[in-house]
Amino acid sequence: MQIEPQAFDRVLSSMCTEPHPVAREAAKRFLATNPGDPGTYPAVTALEDEAIAMLGELTGLEDPSGYIASGGTEANIQAVRIARDRAETRTPNVVMPESGHFSFQKAADVLGVDLRIVPTDETYRADLEAVRSCVDRETALIVGVAGTTEYGRVDPIPALGELAASVDAMLHVDAAWGGFVLPFTDYEWHFGHAAVDTMTIDPHKMGQAAVPAGGLLARSADLLDELAVDTPYLESTSQATLTGTRSGAGVASAVAAMETLWPDGYRDQYVRAQHNAEWLADALEKRGYDVVEPTLPLVAADVPQSTFDALRAKRWRISRTATGELRVVCMPHVTREMLASFIADLDRLEMRASVPMTSDD
Ligand SMILES: *Cc1c(COP(=O)(O)O)cnc(C)c1O
Repeated sequence: MQIEPQAFDRVLSSMCTEPHPVAREAAKRFLATNPGDPGTYPAVTALEDEAIAMLGELTGLEDPSGYIASGGTEANIQAVRIARDRAETRTPNVVMPESGHFSFQKAADVLGVDLRIVPTDETYRADLEAVRSCVDRETALIVGVAGTTEYGRVDPIPALGELAASVDAMLHVDAAWGGFVLPFTDYEWHFGHAAVDTMTIDPHKMGQAAVPAGGLLARSADLLDELAVDTPYLESTSQATLTGTRSGAGVASAVAAMETLWPDGYRDQYVRAQHNAEWLADALEKRGYDVVEPTLPLVAADVPQSTFDALRAKRWRISRTATGELRVVCMPHVTREMLASFIADLDRLEMRASVPMTSDD
């Protein structure tokens, strides 16, 4: 095989990152294990219990239930599935701010629930009044996002929990990306802060584990039991995951990364990433671009399409928000040097754009 995996030195908009060296090593060692079959692969199953215990510690949940999923998408689908199956109605709906991840669209399609998308307010967070006017007796689930994919915003989770309780709905918090930085902030986002029933938190994003390592957490075992199906030909009796056979690499690497980095390593990483985001926001603002302030390590800025395309042509791996802003996610592999080199490229492009074309051009 000739092709090398791509380097991270120009990757600015990904929510994944280079796995921590201990995570990479653990992934390799556990590559040929299948936590979907605990009777045959007990070692990786024990590791999965450890992973869930540690995720519980990060998210203020004593005695957590959950499992390491293929990613945030699976975890979100499963959370919707729990809520749908708990709902008393045959026509349940799910209420979510427009900042919610597109995986809920997949969940709604697969599970046949009505997904009601409500606007965000001027701070890009769920608009409580809009949510209130959208919920009804058939609402099975309210989704709050703790660290939105486009602007890194945290919804008012405790208030969403109260709203959910007022109509007997469940509350799911999607902290797929934010879960590994929020413990070092003042936000109220986790099981200890609000009436959260289920949560998505992905070790393979800010957690520096290898893909695939998503996380689904549930406040109590009976919630997870909603997902269980009987497994006739396995020694274990039931399975809650959406996938059957799954990689033990994600599980083992999640434990290795969390054992190594929680809490000090993750705290250092968050502080560095947040400083980088503020530095970049400042650099872009000074150059006259409209910037969405980074409340978490994620910067969005209104850069013209032609500039964006020219930066892509210089092999910067960047992407845009739904409304077309450049979006830079300050993941652990994103260094100040990378950002400075990105800004230098931007300056060169803008200089060329402002200088009249000469015959040499
Ligand atoms: C990345 C992300 C997801 C999807 O997770 P995958 O691991 O890509 O399946 C869901 N929600 C949020 C907020 C995310 O940032």
